[in-house]
Amino acid sequence: MSKDFYKNILENIKDGVYFVDKERKITFWNKGAEAITGFKANEVTGCHCYNNILNHMDKDGIYLCKNGCPLHKTLEDGQERETVVYLDHKEGQRIKTHVHVVPIYEDEEIIGAVETFSTDEDKTQLIQHLDELKELAYYDQLTGLPNRRYLDNRLDHLIEENRVNKISFGVAIMDVDFFKKFNDNYGHDVGDEVLVMLAKVFKGALRGHDFIGRWGGEEFVAVIKDVNDENFYTALERIRLLVERSSLRQYDPPLKVTISIGATLAGDDDIDSIFKRADKLLYTSKENGRNRVTIG
Ligand code: GH3
Ligand code: MG
Ligand code: MG
Repeated sequence: MSKDFYKNILENIKDGVYFVDKERKITFWNKGAEAITGFKANEVTGCHCYNNILNHMDKDGIYLCKNGCPLHKTLEDGQERETVVYLDHKEGQRIKTHVHVVPIYEDEEIIGAVETFSTDEDKTQLIQHLDELKELAYYDQLTGLPNRRYLDNRLDHLIEENRVNKISFGVAIMDVDFFKKFNDNYGHDVGDEVLVMLAKVFKGALRGHDFIGRWGGEEFVAVIKDVNDENFYTALERIRLLVERSSLRQYDPPLKVTISIGATLAGDDDIDSIFKRADKLLYTSKENGRNRVTIG
């Protein structure tokens, strides 16, 4: 990529970005900086940042340009800094900005620094908050696996894809064997530890584009792509075996469970018909002695 390519990106991003050289002379001032401060690039480039253009002030009203300027400190010690400053907009109003200063090196020598600043903390927090909400809505708190709502969404997409492009996939329902008895024997909390362990086994067992979630209670659903009867069975049989060979080793003797699996390939189907079939096959696995995979 050419230098202009990068410059163009820097020029146009929304955050304020400016460079200073070792003498704190401003050598670059992007459009974001113009928008936030009201000062145009031609008004500030070539000026020294300590000339009180922005008059950085901290939250206690202390002016930083002459003493305590984050850029100055970074030029001195090469450390990155993040801080909040209140700068002077060209029109006079004080603006709260979040400032990030990074040194620029050439041949291991500091030749300047770049400061990025934005007024967007609230938005960032909002986005973080939304991410958290999304996590809560789509992830199971106990195991960290996707929850039923997530699985439903993904399955809707896959069914549509299957209808249009005939890309098939397999759905497997996995249910812990005799889990009620396990809880009765060892307590519900230890039962929860088993569910967490199972989630780890499942995560480790799947390929990148497959996924597994907690359907509810002690039932999990795996969705496996690019499968035929044979490799679907092999993949599930491996998961079954991995569970059989896992244990909660902090207990003496180590505690174990097994799972039964009912699985089917999606054909000309909707979610309900797929799950009805898989559920019946799970029941067959239970009837035939548990700790087994039945595919149909
Ligand atoms: P099987 O499936 O082999 O027929 O027997 P089961 O005893 O596992 O029967 P079922 O699947 O009907 O029972 C589910 C039990 O799982 C009931 C409940 O005690 C337990 N369980 C469901 N959700 C949780 C959970 O979140 N934590 C714990 N510890 N136990 C749960
Ligand atoms: Mg169950
Ligand atoms: Mg069960």
